[in-house]
Amino acid sequence: MPKATETTLEIDLNALRHNYHFLKSKLETPTKMLAVVKANGYGSDGVIVAKELETLGCDYFAVAYSGEGEQLRDAEITTPILVLHPLPINFNSIIERCLEPSIYSIKMLQAFIAFADSKSQKDYPIHLKFNTGLNRLGFTASEITTICNLLSKTSSVKVRSLFSHLAASEDVNEKSFTEGQINQFQHISEEISKVIGYQPLLHTLNTSGVLNYSEAQYDMVRCGIGLYGFGNDIRYNKELIPVLSLKTVISQIHHLSKGDTVGYGRKGQVNTALKTATLPIGHADGLPRTLGQGRASFLVNGKQAPIIGNVCMDMIMVNVTNIDCEEGDEVIVFDKTFTAEALADKMNSISYELLTALSSRIKRTISRKEIDKQ
Ligand SMILES: *Cc1c(COP(=O)(O)O)cnc(C)c1O
Repeated sequence: MPKATETTLEIDLNALRHNYHFLKSKLETPTKMLAVVKANGYGSDGVIVAKELETLGCDYFAVAYSGEGEQLRDAEITTPILVLHPLPINFNSIIERCLEPSIYSIKMLQAFIAFADSKSQKDYPIHLKFNTGLNRLGFTASEITTICNLLSKTSSVKVRSLFSHLAASEDVNEKSFTEGQINQFQHISEEISKVIGYQPLLHTLNTSGVLNYSEAQYDMVRCGIGLYGFGNDIRYNKELIPVLSLKTVISQIHHLSKGDTVGYGRKGQVNTALKTATLPIGHADGLPRTLGQGRASFLVNGKQAPIIGNVCMDMIMVNVTNIDCEEGDEVIVFDKTFTAEALADKMNSISYELLTALSSRIKRTISRKEIDKQ
């Protein structure tokens, strides 16, 4: 990669491939891989990521909202797409764009069946989501009879899969809770499959589920964060490669003296002569103000430069007093070794939040070694 000359988010498709193959290596051969590409591919570029995964033979994609699925269809992605959180207002575009809804309540099941009927659909694929303890979205086990009754009266929809979502698959201290969720899912799936007379796909594991409970992989797993290079555990982070690197550049250097201050609210106090670098990135790009006033540092020519003063909307100033650097030099906000997860930790958050908040105004570039052509 050439050095960054503006704020740039690099998407390493070789890393993506590596992570895909690593996660696949934890699965039995027939187990399908659903790649979660919601929130613009965890802040990267949903279309680029999905296209790459499609060439690797990824079986399914999932997005949160139907608009995200429409974007993938606009980009000629043809792999099945599960919409995890559709709303009744989206039913038309779901069917028009061949998206597959997660159905999570009786009311929604009735409404979708009626809609599919009105569009003369036959066996339209739907996915039934069960709540087994996350208490976010999903049917409860007590609704199985009603669900099966509704399904028995229609041929406009067909259950493509039954699924549930784990609440704490990354946490070894929650092993018994997680096993309880898996058991509930097992019972629910057995009961439904018995009544409807055919066998839908079953899936309940996210990334940490694959890494910690691979015995519950069923027919498919749903991986998000692992594909982007984080395993919610240092043991697994060693095996995965972060796909995203965020780089920027020094726009201006200032030499300040004792008594000067830096930035809004004069929160950067200068107690001894220092050198600052102003960077073209700010909280509007997804780096929150909580990283300011020394909480986080970026790498300037291999050395850590702490943020001085508050993070502005479009700029951040860092202290580069003891760093040999000049205007135009590259600055690393995070990369494969100076990780987004470590930076997220400094904002008391997780890699997911930092990555998905990266603004659309940041230029995305792709790096991909043509290994196949050698
Ligand atoms: C986001 C999401 C996933 C992916 O989880 P990761 O921890 O990123 O692997 C899987 N399933 C559902 C239902 C989700 O909402």
